[in-house]
Formats: sequence, structure tokens, C-alpha cells
Amino acid sequence: MNQIPNSLEARDVAFQLHSYTDARKHEEMGPLVIEKGEGIYVEDNSGKRYIEAMAGLWSVAVGFGEKRLVEAAARQMEKLPYYHTFAHRTHGPSVELAEKLVNMAPVPMSKAYFTNSGSEANDTAIKLIWYRSNAMGKPDKKKIISRVRGYHGVTIASASLTGLVNNHRSFDLPIANILHTSSPHYRTMKKDGETEVDFAKRCATELEDLILAEGPDTIAAFFGEPVIGAGGVVLPPEGYWEQIQPILKKYDILFVADEVICGFGRTGNMFGTETYNLQPDIMTLSKQLSSSYLPISALLVNEKVYGPVADESNKIGTFGHGYTASGHPVAAAVALENLKIIEERDLVGHVRDISPTFLKRLNSLQEHPLVIEARGIGLIGAVELAHESVKDTPGVLGGKVNASYLEKGLISRALGDTMAFCPPLIMSETQVNDMFDIAEAGINEVAKGL
Ligand code: PMP
Repeated sequence: MNQIPNSLEARDVAFQLHSYTDARKHEEMGPLVIEKGEGIYVEDNSGKRYIEAMAGLWSVAVGFGEKRLVEAAARQMEKLPYYHTFAHRTHGPSVELAEKLVNMAPVPMSKAYFTNSGSEANDTAIKLIWYRSNAMGKPDKKKIISRVRGYHGVTIASASLTGLVNNHRSFDLPIANILHTSSPHYRTMKKDGETEVDFAKRCATELEDLILAEGPDTIAAFFGEPVIGAGGVVLPPEGYWEQIQPILKKYDILFVADEVICGFGRTGNMFGTETYNLQPDIMTLSKQLSSSYLPISALLVNEKVYGPVADESNKIGTFGHGYTASGHPVAAAVALENLKIIEERDLVGHVRDISPTFLKRLNSLQEHPLVIEARGIGLIGAVELAHESVKDTPGVLGGKVNASYLEKGLISRALGDTMAFCPPLIMSETQVNDMFDIAEAGINEVAKGL
């Protein structure tokens, strides 16, 4: 760390508690200060440039330094910097964005509801689902199923949905009535000789067994990411969604597709829902919705969800939910301009064009002795690392490779020993190759030192 008293680094350690960071280690190491960004690159305060292979946190679709988003924010700030959507009030940007999202949805959706983060969107989805069950005279239909390794956020309810130990341990989570079914990761979960399709079938059977054991009338909804992101970039095994969805239909269980990472082009279609032919009742959206230039998230709900919710609000006299910044006009204006850019530049088509190179380079890492699995789709992927010498200390290898990447000017993310790649959608083919040249060199360097 830069030890100069009063440096940004020293003041960061003095005053800030960081997300997903070992606080004591941070006191020793200090932060990496990122100062600016342009395209797929960010620069630290020593002038060193990095390829941002995670698009920040899976989110900066249009790249850093996009002037049109700055201008859209400034225009809206001048006109109406803030207003809310409580008590029959509205404003242009929230209406336009709601209309845009409902029209973009790949399955029939009725209404959009705005929130400020992926966690809040999923939290709100749970509240809508509970409210709906009460409206329908089914007060016992409240349990929710998500998956081991799924990631849905960190608020009390959304962290409970998340199927990762560090989001529960020492937080006294999960809360009651949130159940987890098995992870769909084929390589680690398959039984001897089991094909991918057989494994997918077993996942579906396990889900059905859980539903039957709990009582189908007590299960309200199932949450799943089309492709699991933060839980290690886990692609659904062949036939997975085809087997899962009929079970949800059979027991009248709502399906929530968490599109927070997959939404807006990541998997090579506008939504993961299209890539995997899903029929969700609710979609939760964030991140690439505004390229994270400003915080905003949204839920899309179909008529099956909206109808009872609207009736209940009518019975009670209000829908007792809402955030001060729900549908914030500046964030909504930025999201609208961002979606315009995604469409005008056909970034979804671009993802399809460069994905073969991305996947070829990613999969070629599988040949490396340190890599046990490479997996990806569209412009999201991961390589999982393993070595005999560190097999009892998970995360060490990921940490070493991460450090080597940083030193070489590449920002990836170590999810345990899995290195994730989820770059801005604007990345060129040459830049894909640059990214994997460093990714390969970093793994080689660490392998030599083991
Ligand atoms: N859902 C998914 C699929 C996510 O990847 C994330 C964030 N990584 C969230 C929800 C939570 O979003 P946020 O961090 O904005 O609360």
C-alpha cells in the first residue's frame, strides 16, 4: 500500500469498510485505487492500465467513459433531478423505461416495478409472491426454492436465496421458508457414469422430491439464474431447464428468472430466458440495464402475478411497498440511453460474432495442467483451477492467479479457484485475444512457481 499519510489509500483504510473483503487484511494491504476508465480499460492512480475482464461487476455493457450516458444523466438532472412514483405520481423516464422493458420481454409481461439493486429486485419479488399468495387465499403457499451456488443478492431475504456459505455464515441466515435444491454443476455433482442429460433429470427429480416432501401447496416460487454467475459461472447441464420447468408448472409454482447478469445480451440473446427457452412469471433485471453507470433494477411481472397483487392493494387501499429512489428519473434516463446504445450498435449480434473466439480461447485453457474445467457461453466464462500442492486450501490458487493477472494488467475475479471472465459487450475480437494472452500467461507463471 501507498503509506503516505493522508494518501487516498491511507484514508480508505481509515474510513471505509469494504464489501467482500477481509477487513483485517485490508488494513495491511490497502486498496487498489481505480481512477478512470475508457472502453474495456480502467486505470489506477499510478497510471497503470488494466483490461477490465469483469466489466466491473458483470455490468458495464457499453464500456467505461460512454459520453452518451453522461449527457443523458446531465439532461435529466437539469430537467427533473428527482421525483418519485408513490401515490399515483409518475414522470417521463420511469414510464418510458417501464414501457420499453415490458415490450422487450421475450415472454408476455404485464408490468415493470423499479428498485435500485439486484438484491432489492429479488427481495421485492419475494414480497410480491407472498402478497399474491395471501391475495389468493393461500396463506400457507409461502416457501421459496433456490439453488446451491445460485446468487441472488445480500439483503436478508435475497441473501437467504443465495446458495453460498459465505452469505449465510455468521449472518444467521437463511431465514425460514427458503429452501435450497442441489447445484446444477455437472462436473462436481454428477455420479459415476451419469450423462449430462441423466444428471439434469436427477436434478429435476430432487426438486420434485423436495416439493413433495414439503407439500406442494406450501411452495410459492422457484428462483434461478439462467446461467449461474457469482456462484462460479455454472451453465445449466443439457436438458436442465426443459426438465425443471414442467415440474414448476405441475405444482403451480411461480418461476422467477434472475436475469441480473444474463440480461441485455450477455449470453448471446437479449435475455438468458431466450437462450434457454424459459417461461418465467417474473424476471429480475439490473447491472447491464444501466451498464451500472447509476444504480437501478427492475422486476417484470406477468398478469398472473400482477392481477392478484393489484386486487390485494385495492382491498387494503394501498400497495405498502416502495423505495424513495424507485424508478429514479436520472437512473431511468441513463438506462433508456444505455438500451438505445445496445440496440443501435447491435451489441447482442456483436456478442454472437465474437463469442466463437471468446469460447475458443477460453476452452483452449482447458489443455493447461492447472485447469480442470473451462466453461462459457456468449461472453461469460470461467476457468476452474486445481493443483495437488494446494488441494487442501481452496482459494489459494485463485488468489495467486488473480495477483499475477493484476500485475500483468488484467482484472478478472477469483470465485474461489475459479477465474471468471465477463467483459464489456463492446470488446473487440483483438481485445478478446489480448485478454486471453494475459490470462494464459498468468496461469503459466503461477504453475511454474508451484
Ligand atoms: N442476482 C444476480 C444474478 C447477481 O449476479 C447479483 C449481483 N452479483 C445480484 C442478484 C445482486 O445484485 P446487487 O449486488 O445489485 O444487489
